[in-house]
Amino acid sequence: MENAVNASTAGSSGQIVVAGAGYAGLHVALRLTAKLRNHPVVELTLVDRHDYHQAITELPRVAGGTRAADAVRIPLQDMLATRVRFVQTEITGFDLAGRRLLTGAGPIGWRRLVLALGSRPNDFAIPGLAQRTLSVYSAGDAERVWAAVSNALTAAAAAADPEQQRRLATVVVGGGGATGVELAGELAEILPKVASRLGLAPDRPAVQLVEAGTTILAGSSPQLIDKAAGILSDLGVQVRTNAMVAAATEEGFRLTDGQLVEGGVFVWAGGVKAPELVADSGLPAGHNGRVKVDRYLRVLDRPEIYAAGDLASVTDPRTGHVLPPLAQVALEEGETVARNLDAELEGRQLEAFTFHDKGFVVSVGTRRGVADIAGVTAGGRLAHLLKDAIEWEYRQSVRHLRGWDPVAI
Ligand SMILES: Cc1cc2nc3c(=O)[nH]c(=O)nc-3n(C[C@H](O)[C@H](O)[C@H](O)COP(=O)(O)OP(=O)(O)OC[C@H]3O[C@@H](n4cnc5c(N)ncnc54)[C@H](O)[C@@H]3O)c2cc1C
Repeated sequence: MENAVNASTAGSSGQIVVAGAGYAGLHVALRLTAKLRNHPVVELTLVDRHDYHQAITELPRVAGGTRAADAVRIPLQDMLATRVRFVQTEITGFDLAGRRLLTGAGPIGWRRLVLALGSRPNDFAIPGLAQRTLSVYSAGDAERVWAAVSNALTAAAAAADPEQQRRLATVVVGGGGATGVELAGELAEILPKVASRLGLAPDRPAVQLVEAGTTILAGSSPQLIDKAAGILSDLGVQVRTNAMVAAATEEGFRLTDGQLVEGGVFVWAGGVKAPELVADSGLPAGHNGRVKVDRYLRVLDRPEIYAAGDLASVTDPRTGHVLPPLAQVALEEGETVARNLDAELEGRQLEAFTFHDKGFVVSVGTRRGVADIAGVTAGGRLAHLLKDAIEWEYRQSVRHLRGWDPVAI
């Protein structure tokens, strides 16, 4: 592990640099490591601000207090082979003309760059939202949500007025996509137990899910949406659709129809956008600032730069729609980028990216979930077990890929 760039490699033109060790970037690094055995002079450098990979799909459990934040921080040193040079530093900009990544540890030159810096919560320029809401996009964010919820319930238990208790003990989640639904479900199931421990009536806490559109889990099958809505209702989550947030104020979410949604904790899960760093880079930007790529996942007019994961704006040629920001998309894109980098080294044709949809699984609470797989919709315990199995399989696959490296074993 390095936290400073060796002067002899800064500005070097012989290396492949992967920016970001999330789902996409880590998988590029892991898969490429094995392919580099025939290319001993090629340097592979992975750069991230953290020395751990975050299993973001598990964050709702951290925010709901059922999983420790450290359990979703997977140390990179346990996963990376010696062949990969890891640099822990903040990436601060790009020198596109000089082919250098600008970082807190100095510039890092690339021959090929892979941009896999993920995304940030999108506040859609709604006044007060960034200042007054928490997000759930890192283990630290999720820890803060759980701390805020615990503090709010403690304050509610100390309050004498039932109305004040109810307001303090209400968690308002903005955004009814998969993240919002998972978070609302997890909290709704846990809060009554926390309330009881604090001497607060178990029916005092409440969870409200506020969605601007006509439905939660927009884009999913009607059957899946019905099943998810049923479980949320069973858990006591109050779902408000067609409820667009106009502003976040001291009092709560002010909706466009003038209604006020009050609460003790406000979490925003209303969508994502590209990190500011990329928005300011001069790279071609599509919807929500995501970087436009060609069918080989190379940035448009920048064939020496690949982009993958949430950062990349990849249009599915079969539907004409941009693929959603999902871990399964990021993993598949990472795989294609690794194969294309290898193809360049071996002088083979590049491979066009094709997304193979494995289905959609959302946990709703600590025991149930919903899933759409191969046209079949499931709801209940089985779907939750499936989500557990996907997360377990993901961790196993990382270990397996680590084992691929002949130099490390
Ligand atoms: C709460 C939640 C639950 C989710 N659940 C699911 C799910 O169940 N299934 C699913 O398919 N998808 C899910 N997603 C979406 C999924 O997590 C993302 O699509 C996925 O993480 C994208 O991978 P990525 O590699 O593009 O970005 P990330 O995984 O976010 O990785 C980006 C990396 O870049 C690093 N980085 C960023 N900026 C800098 C910088 N300036 N300097 C240094 N390093 C930097 C970060 O530290 C990070 O390691 C969920 C998302 C959230 C928020």
